Amino acid sequence: MGDAACIARVAQIVAEAARQRRVVAVVSAMSGVTNKLIEAATKSQNGEDQTSTAIFESLRRQHEAALAALIQPGEQRGRIAESMREIFAEGERLCQGTALLRELTPRTLDAISSLGERLSAPMVAGALAELGVPSEAVEATELIVTDPYHGGADPIMEKTRLKCEARLRPMLDAGVVPVVTGFIGATEQGVLTTLGRGGSDYSATILGAAITAAEVIIWTDVDGVLTADPRLVAEARTIPEISYREATELAYFGAKVLHPKTLRALAEQGIPVWIRNSFSPENRGTKITPKGRSNGGGVKALTAIKDVTLISLGGPGIVGMTDVVGRTFSTTAEVHANVLLISQSSSQNDICFIVSSADAKRTVEALRKEFAQDLAHEKVEHITVDPNIAIVAVVGENMRGTPGVAGRVFIGLGRESVNIIAIAQGSSESNISFVVAEQDMKRALVVTHREFGLGSPALQEQRVPVS
Ligand code: ASP
Ligand code: MG
Repeated sequence: MGDAACIARVAQIVAEAARQRRVVAVVSAMSGVTNKLIEAATKSQNGEDQTSTAIFESLRRQHEAALAALIQPGEQRGRIAESMREIFAEGERLCQGTALLRELTPRTLDAISSLGERLSAPMVAGALAELGVPSEAVEATELIVTDPYHGGADPIMEKTRLKCEARLRPMLDAGVVPVVTGFIGATEQGVLTTLGRGGSDYSATILGAAITAAEVIIWTDVDGVLTADPRLVAEARTIPEISYREATELAYFGAKVLHPKTLRALAEQGIPVWIRNSFSPENRGTKITPKGRSNGGGVKALTAIKDVTLISLGGPGIVGMTDVVGRTFSTTAEVHANVLLISQSSSQNDICFIVSSADAKRTVEALRKEFAQDLAHEKVEHITVDPNIAIVAVVGENMRGTPGVAGRVFIGLGRESVNIIAIAQGSSESNISFVVAEQDMKRALVVTHREFGLGSPALQEQRVPVS
């Protein structure tokens, strides 16, 4: 939600839905607010209290302006303004404490970064009331019970279910729309936690699972899940329906539509999730279902990431050395590097893998240390690093058992002279990933998109369900 106009639009969407059925709304902070709160927290930790105060000042102005634009002067506006003042005062106290101690604990950071949702929920509830829809803001600390893993907490579903029944059910029965703060929860002891950046999607699916919702609709600023990034592939189109698995593959591979954990909460119950665009609610967006729906071909979408680095380790000396793989990945685990792709050929001459570029330096240093002896004795001949690469992934659950998909991918690339550096396909066969030079990434996407006709409306729309 960028500004008052966005909040008003969100309220319209919720009001429309509430006329037809029972609705729980989950809201995130206004755009950019969480980033600013985190900045204020870090500035306080560095002792820069004035910067932190200035950030709070601008946040206050932003929220007051939105409130004034959304809600008529009167009792309701006064009440929301008062609760905002309290939330800001709490934030400033937390920052002062941080500045005093010069220490920012994960717990305090969660308390500060959660303020954006705590500010936006009452405004959305107020905007709904202005439209004549009975509504009430609810803080998710009252609903979502999590483990104490600050900054990336996970829900304890049984306890969450009980709380939701007790708190949300009576509201729904009374025809009131609960407007719940996304992104946050609380431990069993009541300490506030956050679910990770972008976690409001995850909040929505946690709550959807907890109350066994008929469906979860995520209103965002893109037209659902696309066949490719439209900034790179002009012909990219919205996919009408994809499976949980496909959506998750795409989330992990940089198509940033969803928080990667979003679908986890729903998997068991198979509740469908829609991704829709709040700027163009007339479009139906993408429906994510347990099984997805075939589009006739095996390939559903392409995705790519380029902020990644290829590390390879090898030399003839490693052939038959049975501990190289084990030691390599114990090392990456020790430095908490997230490994995105692994490839080793059967000649065993070298093993290569890809990590986020942010993790590359410490990974290579740790590997050089781990293999110092072997490098000295030339058993391991090289550890090389290439940051100028990109991973392209071809995703589709129905590629499984469909012969010829890999063939078409690589024939298409060959025809366009795109050089392939490494290839990986898991045995689940729902993702074929390959590595190309960064400068070839866009071309690889365009060629493969065309090869599988993903831009063709016929392929995407022939099986649009009627629901
Ligand atoms: N406000 C949180 C964030 O920016 C959660 C969300 O937007 O989904 O990460
Ligand atoms: Mg967000």
